[in-house]
Amino acid sequence: MTLLLNQVTKRYGKATAVDHLSLEIPEKEMFGFLGGNGAGKTTTFRMILGLLDRTEGDITWNGEPINYDKSHLIGYLPEERGLYPKLTVKEQIVYLGRLRGMHKQEIIKELEQWLERFKVPEYMAKRVEELSKGNQQKIQFISAVIHKPKLLILDEPFSGLDPVNVEMLKEAVIDLKQQGTSIVFSSHRMEHVEELCEHLCILHKGTPVVQGSLREIKSSFGKKNIVVHAD
Ligand code: ATP
Repeated sequence: MTLLLNQVTKRYGKATAVDHLSLEIPEKEMFGFLGGNGAGKTTTFRMILGLLDRTEGDITWNGEPINYDKSHLIGYLPEERGLYPKLTVKEQIVYLGRLRGMHKQEIIKELEQWLERFKVPEYMAKRVEELSKGNQQKIQFISAVIHKPKLLILDEPFSGLDPVNVEMLKEAVIDLKQQGTSIVFSSHRMEHVEELCEHLCILHKGTPVVQGSLREIKSSFGKKNIVVHAD
């Protein structure tokens, strides 16, 4: 299911957040958006998800608009993380899984596997507010993937994580891709994109500065020139 963006633009009054962005995001691949603060990454994701209206342009997924009837096929890790602090991890994920039409037992089985994988099986009964920010992020990631989406959109998934958790999450993302999930993610850091993506787009002030396969981009620019931000 190829995701196509055609001349997608978002303006807020006179300010342009995303400017005529055209992209083809191939199926079952990992596609990276690289850019510093205010580059337009979150705005692009929110338009893909239909959370934000476009000022101009079209977005299609497998030739059709992404409507709410496809929302069960999409997973989203927003940049602004948000979980219900008073719920237990199990309650949190069961609630979100049920909203996506999953059966409770299926949700719990999936959740157990993810907690095992993240080496925190004891978190099942813990309240979200008892977890560190990094561990809350893992739970937020699980909530984005519990329903096995075909398209997964991750907004700066590695920010705020320590290196061990970054590695753990990267491995999980690589596995999902190998299982056939199409993954789009954003980062400030070239090394994450370089390690994970076949294709990428570098955004600066809403404009695609460069896009294409990693190999093409590296050969035309050289690695040193495409480090856009060091956080
Ligand atoms: P960051 O890494 O800081 O999250 P980003 O690449 O995700 O950056 P966006 O959040 O998409 O960038 O913002 C792109 C531009 O649009 C910025 O200049 C931002 O100030 C502007 N912008 C975003 N939301 C609004 C809004 N609701 N009203 C006005 N301007 C906005």
